[in-house]
Parts: sequence; C-alpha cells; structure tokens
Amino acid sequence: MPARGPTTYHQKHTTLNVTERIEKPSVKARAARRLTLLIIHLAALFLACCGAPGGKLTTEHSKETPATEVSKAATETADAHDPSAVHRRAIAIDMHADTVQFMLDDGADINQRLTTTHLDAVRMREGGLDAQFFSIWVEPQYYGFKGERAVARADEQIKTVRALAEQHPETWTLATTAEEIRRAAREGKLAALLGLEGGYAIDEKLESVERYYRIGVRYMSPAWTYSVSWAGSSGDTEGRTRGLNEFGRKVIREMNRLGIMVDVSHVSDKTFWDIVETSTKPVIATHSNCRAISDVPRNLTDEQIRAIAKTGGVVSVVFYPAFVEAGWKERKDAVDREIQTLVDEASRRAQGGPSIKRIARDRVREREYARRLSMPGVARVVDHIDHIVKLVGIEHVGVGSDFDGIQATPAGLSSVADLPNLTAELLRRGYTEEDVDKILGGNILRVMEEVERGTQQ
Ligand SMILES: [Zn+2]
Repeated sequence: MPARGPTTYHQKHTTLNVTERIEKPSVKARAARRLTLLIIHLAALFLACCGAPGGKLTTEHSKETPATEVSKAATETADAHDPSAVHRRAIAIDMHADTVQFMLDDGADINQRLTTTHLDAVRMREGGLDAQFFSIWVEPQYYGFKGERAVARADEQIKTVRALAEQHPETWTLATTAEEIRRAAREGKLAALLGLEGGYAIDEKLESVERYYRIGVRYMSPAWTYSVSWAGSSGDTEGRTRGLNEFGRKVIREMNRLGIMVDVSHVSDKTFWDIVETSTKPVIATHSNCRAISDVPRNLTDEQIRAIAKTGGVVSVVFYPAFVEAGWKERKDAVDREIQTLVDEASRRAQGGPSIKRIARDRVREREYARRLSMPGVARVVDHIDHIVKLVGIEHVGVGSDFDGIQATPAGLSSVADLPNLTAELLRRGYTEEDVDKILGGNILRVMEEVERGTQQ
C-alpha cells in the first residue's frame, strides 16, 4: 500500500457491536471435557498403535508425504482426532494480532462477538486459543520515528490491553511469563500478552527498554516497515544497507538481560544477521513465512530459519496471503490500482485522525480483495509449517496469525474461531497430537522459559 512501502500490509477493518455474552467454562465443565479428551486420546492411541498397520505416523513421514498421498491408515488415524478437542486440551498461543488499534481507535469491545475484527474473546473460546500476544504498533509515519507522540501512542495501546484484564478479570488475565499463560489456561481465562512491533517508542533511549519490560512487554521487533536509526527494516531502502548500530546492539543485549524476546519479523536481512550474532537468547520471528515458498522480503530464507533454530528460537507462521502464496501480492497490487479511487474516497470521508482514516481505507480494501481475489487455503499455510519442520524439526515452528493486521485471510482461516482448521490439516498430514501441541504453543512456552531464565521476575 502506498503509504507503507513495498512490503506493507498491516491495516484494518472495524467494529460493530452485536452482543454475545462470553460463557466462562466452569472448572467442572473443563474437567468433564478433559475426561472426554482423555478417552478420545486413548482411543486414538489404540488405533494408531494397534489399528493402523505400520504404527503411529511420525512427523518425519508427514514432512515427506504430499497431502494428497497420505496413506489410508494415516487418514483413519487422523480422523480419530478431533481438532477442536486438541485445541481445548493444548495451550494455543498466537504470537501476533493487531486488534488493539480497533479497540483504541474504533471502540471495539472484544468481550463481545464482533463481525468486523478477526479476534474477540467469544471467538477465541470457539477456536481454542488460550493466549494472544497483542501487537503494540506505532505507525511512525503518523506518530514519529521517535519522540513523545510515538511513546504516547505505544503507551495508550498498552493501557488498553491492561484495562481489558483489569475490567474483565473473569475473562482475561495479563500474562508476562510462560507460567502465567499455563495458569490462565488452567483457570479457563484468556491470556493477553504484549509485544512491541517496531522500536519507535523506545525513543532511542536504552532505559525505555526496561520501562516497557516493567509494564508487561515481552517481545519487541526493532523495526516495522520503516527503519529506525539503530536498525534496518525489510520495508524500505535504508534497510538494504542498515543493520544494527552500536546502540542497536545495546538494545538487544538489554532485552536479553531483562527477558524480552527478540523478534526479527520485519527487520532487514542485515539487521537479522546482526541480531542473531548479538543475542545470547533464543530469537523468534513472530509473524513470518518461508521465502522458499513465497519470495518476499518479509519472509525468511532457509539459511535464516536454520539460524533461528540454532538459537533455540521459533518461526511463527503468518496468515497474510501475500506471504503465504507466491504471486498473490502481484495480483493484490493490480487490484490496488483498480480500487485506488474508492480507497481515496473512503479516506476523505472518514472523520478523525490518521489511524481512523487508515481503518476506513482498509475496510474498502478488505471488501474489494474479498470480491476480486481468490485466497489461498489452509493447506498453503501448512506448507510453510511443513517446510520449516523439514528444515529444522518440529521444535522451531509456531503460529503468528497477524489477524486484524491484514485485509485478507486464507480461505478457512477467516478468524481466530477457525484455528482448529489449521490443526485439522496438520493432523490430516500425519502430525501427531504431540507435534501439534508444540506448534500451537509448546515451542513458544519453551522459548519464553528460556528467555526468562536468569532474569528477575
Ligand atoms: Zn507486522
């Protein structure tokens, strides 16, 4: 999109308020569900070990086997699993969603079922999503690359998430550690976590890193679509030559010291390698895919994926079609040219600040993309998971939807409620439930624990 450089995508939709009360599952209900799940699980195990010739499918098998050629035995085994049940049992963590901007700028109340966001508490429950990292996203073109306005914009968003947990303690809890996510899941609550997308709000001050840690931020990417003075972005020309400068390296070391995960999504290749060289803790990509499948600068090369794995980190796959499917971005760009007048008109009519005008533009884009473009299916997202698993194994892959930051979603993944469709495809390809647990959240819990180690909580 013009305002956001060649590889941008974040932008939004809106709100409307259709009320639905959130049912908090009682402890009893959860216990009953667990028992049912245990029975299903045991039945599945029996089928896998005794019923299916060749025994339980391994991930190794699935990695090499195209979806259409999965053996009958494998299919029968997978059918014994209920993806929704897997979600209810597993701890599922989404590493990236941009819902806060809708809450802040558009008054979205995500305690109700909404039709104009990709995420709310009701649909989190339906999709079996336990924890959400909310992106604290400062648009530097509107709020500055540093300075008071950038800081205020980040702080307002953090306040919005914290208020969610304070005002709705029956539904939400603010989590800052792996253990707090686990506890929330045990208590049947949704965990809200904070990630800073782009380091604009640290305002080129090292002490700001600790301030953000203290108010709950647990990951940060140095740059979003625009480079900062101390780190290059994949979204602008500066990023091609800019990595981390000395201050940038200090920021990474400070994040390591405090226990803030270092996120490489959006940074330039040069910054990526500087981060990997500097960080002494696991490095994550909260919402990036594989360039081997869709060759865009926001995705990772095989070499980068191997480097992340070597740090003990995780690549969380993103749902944005342009990063999922080769050629989709070009088709979208053609549509952008066709709808330019409509988009400009919506922006002109919208009353309010730059973020509100952006939301208005994005609504038009979302509507028109849905009409004019075909979307990749869930299987294409899982192709990226397969690719990462094939490269570095099951321990280094996760999910970072970027819901509410994208104007198009894969077919079958139109909101958090659809997450079990992803799990269904994984099971269909022969991933075991244990594998799926790791992908949905287990791997990230491991990284969080590793990053927390040696820091004072
Ligand atoms: Zn992003």
